[in-house]
Amino acid sequence: MNVADSEVVAAILEEAGYRPAKDIHHADLIFVNTCSIRENAEQRVWGRLDLFRSEKRRRKNVTIGVLGCMAERLKEDLLESDRLVDMVVGPDAYRELPKLISSVDTGHKAVNVLLSREETYADITPVRLESNRVSAFISIMRGCNNMCAYCVVPYTRGAERSRDPETIVSEARDIFDKGYREVTLLGQNVDSYRYFEEGHGNSSPVMFHHLLEMVAGIDPRLRVRFSTSHPKDLSDEVLYAMARHENICRHIHLPVQSGSSTVLERMNRKYDREWYLDRITAIKRIIPGCAVSTDIIAGFCGETEEEHSDTLSLMRETGFDFAYMFKYSERPGTKAARHLKDDVPEKIKTRRLNEIIALQNLLSSESKKDDIGKVFEVLVEGRAKKAIAGKEAASIMASGSDSGNNIIPTMMGRTSGNKVVVFRSKDAQPGDYVNVKITSATSATLTGNTMSDPVTGRG
Ligand code: SAH
Ligand code: SF4
Repeated sequence: MNVADSEVVAAILEEAGYRPAKDIHHADLIFVNTCSIRENAEQRVWGRLDLFRSEKRRRKNVTIGVLGCMAERLKEDLLESDRLVDMVVGPDAYRELPKLISSVDTGHKAVNVLLSREETYADITPVRLESNRVSAFISIMRGCNNMCAYCVVPYTRGAERSRDPETIVSEARDIFDKGYREVTLLGQNVDSYRYFEEGHGNSSPVMFHHLLEMVAGIDPRLRVRFSTSHPKDLSDEVLYAMARHENICRHIHLPVQSGSSTVLERMNRKYDREWYLDRITAIKRIIPGCAVSTDIIAGFCGETEEEHSDTLSLMRETGFDFAYMFKYSERPGTKAARHLKDDVPEKIKTRRLNEIIALQNLLSSESKKDDIGKVFEVLVEGRAKKAIAGKEAASIMASGSDSGNNIIPTMMGRTSGNKVVVFRSKDAQPGDYVNVKITSATSATLTGNTMSDPVTGRG
């Protein structure tokens, strides 16, 4: 989400005449777009600010700005003189950046941390930064109304609002025309996307499943992904929309947070273990083969050993393909910080997190091992960071897809289920679709042989 926001910021600055610099030593403005979700995210920003401060000691005219959630959370505190920060700008104030920069130019510090009920930056065409020119993020809504007890997002990003679907579809069409072949629709809770068309009186709103079909309808060669789904709101309509369109990727990121109904209640997640498992059953019934990934928090307030084992058993029962796993980190001002005790000792949190990670590694390996021998349509993103070497390269040569020429590049791409696949190909270009037969797997990556000439997605 921060990448998507930085692309909006880049567009606003470009409009005001700025261009991206080669590195910070050549920049007149240095902005850091920040995350407050866990304490260690903020620690990293403090580290980065130290680096910028030393740059500012060398070049007095540099302007340093803190943008995003940490700006919203800490406000004027970030301007304390020793920090050498000139601007503090919250996530709904980016349109004001040019004005704020001018005010810094006249010797003032600048702050705008007003949250908005309407701002969606709907009319701004993001400038794609460091893009692979194959996949792009599109923000479809901002903020969150959910008030999960541990979470700072509703405080730093404000109330939920949905973006005009016409602007989302035209942004997706525009990047498809530019050669991109995958969009990821972003929101804190995409299933509660709801847009009331202006001037249509009380007519029914555009819901997320409508939006999905509108974007999927642009072209079958455009893959559509979305994140994040909330288990309490993931509807069968969304699942049926996915089943109807092959280009809506077979992957749902469905953060469970905990496998224990009592912990989920304390977290204020508004669903229980049974509800979550029912959603998993619906996914498997309506979209067979759909990958499911999740987020898990270890050691939330009052978590007992039994509640922790409920998380492990739910993980086994669901068989997640992938997970982001975190230790609970208390965030100031949240419901949990105000009303619950962060009472699971650090050592126990670490042990529980390690158990969760070890189990997920096993599940990820199992899910990838099941893929050996299968053929997947892979959207090529570019060269792989590491070439296929050793035994794997030898097996590819033996299978005849390499005529002995060692300079065949190793490419990477993803399956519809979001698994990374590496394979060797002379012809495959970023944006092409290639059928790859999987020959081996680790817990992170699949390796295989191309089964067909690349189908040019760009054609
Ligand atoms: N809107 C998304 C998640 C946004 S935050 C959703 O509801 O799923 C991404 C993830 O960070 C969360 O799913 C949660 O697992 C984790 N997270 C949020 N607050 C946290 C905290 N205080 N401590 C640890 N992990 C946290
Ligand atoms: Fe945070 Fe919950 Fe909103 Fe996700 S749904 S952003 S976890 S409050």
